[in-house]
Amino acid sequence: MLFGYPIAATAENWLHECLLEMVQTIHTNHDGRQVALAWPDIIPAAHRDTLHRRTGLYDRLAQYSAAAGKLSVPERQQVLACIVQQNRIADLVTCSTDCDSLSDLPKAIQAPVAELFAFELLTGLGVRDRHYHAIYTAVPYHVCPFCGCEYFDAPGAPREDLDHYLPKSLYPFAAANLRNLVPMGMKCNERYKLAQDILRDAAGGRRRSFDPYADRHLKVVLDNSVPFGGADGQTPDWQINFDPDSVESTTWDNVFHVRERIKRDVLDSSFWQWLRDFSAWFKKRMGIADPGDAEVLDAMRTYAEDMALTGLTAREFLRAPVFQMLHRHCKAGNQRVLALMKDVVAMAVP
Ligand SMILES: [Zn+2]
Repeated sequence: MLFGYPIAATAENWLHECLLEMVQTIHTNHDGRQVALAWPDIIPAAHRDTLHRRTGLYDRLAQYSAAAGKLSVPERQQVLACIVQQNRIADLVTCSTDCDSLSDLPKAIQAPVAELFAFELLTGLGVRDRHYHAIYTAVPYHVCPFCGCEYFDAPGAPREDLDHYLPKSLYPFAAANLRNLVPMGMKCNERYKLAQDILRDAAGGRRRSFDPYADRHLKVVLDNSVPFGGADGQTPDWQINFDPDSVESTTWDNVFHVRERIKRDVLDSSFWQWLRDFSAWFKKRMGIADPGDAEVLDAMRTYAEDMALTGLTAREFLRAPVFQMLHRHCKAGNQRVLALMKDVVAMAVP
């Protein structure tokens, strides 16, 4: 993940907290063999006016209560513990704690839990739009941080995908928790992440993942790429590194196929066009008809610095590390790369 979202955007988490409080009330009533609180009294007073006409919520709570009433006390305790466990997002992604998944709960409660917490109340109440607005206005670049290549539309446009970072099919108690909900580009969400378990690998082993609401800035570095090492003998053999590198970035790459996508969809497909763009820039900026080695080297460094200034502007953010890598090889005395770059500025590239 190239950057984290501001935690302040999750402040309006009252709906999630209401759901948990109502479920807690249901459990307390069953455990104490008390008469269940009638609708709408079961809704926390501060939000009763907002929620009391939500008949879909009432139906789902009634189904949950009926199922919970048939569980034993230890089974209900397991469910309550699971509610707490599944919402410790920051601890779960660092593997400092663990949690049951939906299938670990008593069979009779699984469907009512999934129904209650998957209910699309967030959208209808405007919470989702305010959450997106808070993120969009706070982050400097309006791109998907999971790939860096998809632009985010402004608030008011048709909504971007909202991913359940811990998938709701496994961890439904976190399904309405804004701490677990992250705006995500459509490609990242619908073609790569899907319902993959961010907490566990394919073999079921626990793995560490980025906290999407942590303050983080990660760079893509291409310096170790091998010029002319690609399959066509002309394009570099791209070595895509993350700075800083971490076990979390391995999970990120495994889930979102970041390296594969960067290589195939950006670097291989854009490399020669970016060299042509550099050639045009060189002619305009430098105005030198027959540049020497030092002039080409200086131009490459300046161009990489200029490109870096544009920051995360979708796939263009990879131009800077490409020219940093080329400059690095030329500076180290790679005559073949230097000859290529002199051809480039003379407009003799393929
Ligand atoms: Zn994306």
